[in-house]
Amino acid sequence: MQLSLSTWQDVESYLEHSTGIIVPIGSMEQHGPTGLIGTDSICPETIAKRVGDDNGVLIGPTFNVGCAQHHLGFPGSMTLRPSTMIAAMCDWTASLSRHGFDKIYWLNGHGGNIATINAAFVEYYAQRSLESVPAKQPAITMKLQNWWDFKTVLDTAKRMHPVGEGMHATASEVAVTYAAYPDQVRDMVLEPKIAPTGSFTDAYDYRKKFPDGRIGSDPTQATIENGQELITVTAQAVASDFEAFINTP
Ligand SMILES: [Zn+2]
Repeated sequence: MQLSLSTWQDVESYLEHSTGIIVPIGSMEQHGPTGLIGTDSICPETIAKRVGDDNGVLIGPTFNVGCAQHHLGFPGSMTLRPSTMIAAMCDWTASLSRHGFDKIYWLNGHGGNIATINAAFVEYYAQRSLESVPAKQPAITMKLQNWWDFKTVLDTAKRMHPVGEGMHATASEVAVTYAAYPDQVRDMVLEPKIAPTGSFTDAYDYRKKFPDGRIGSDPTQATIENGQELITVTAQAVASDFEAFINTP
């Protein structure tokens, strides 16, 4: 069940039996020569939609531009400043809260978002704590979950790509996008086969150190079949984790 494909009456009925929602959150940034710019948004969105279809969970719109300043050296990459992202996340949360949602599960697709998502949670909680009159809206509990961060998913990725999974433009995330959009599979030889690794600061530094955009990965291993399996394994993990989340006071 997707929020964007629901009517207000559908949402009103949903709220009678559940006040939890999954919101995919990602990024719009280069993913090397074979990876799509929307990869970090497409992955959590695709997995969340599967959870929604299989389990009747409401899936919010995808927060699809995140913190990606370090990728701005590559055409097409977009970023929010952390302060903008925090403000937008707080407004999304307050909107959902106004209707009675009190459990928001942010399914994340981008490592560079983690610090800012956690800061947004604190910003939201601080706003409530600082109000001298108790707020009329229900208290909210939020959870950040990276889609790749379940043991079953890590084990699956390791079995599929024991070498060259990498840190950015990973074989697994590219596989998930190929499963979601089979007509977008890119077939090319990458040199070097496995990209360099290391740290970085800003967009200039990043482009100098990682000239084709990848970090530590060989995404040419990505296949539609592997992506389909990763979506299934991750959706199962998310469904049970979400269930536990909404049942924890
Ligand atoms: Zn990514």
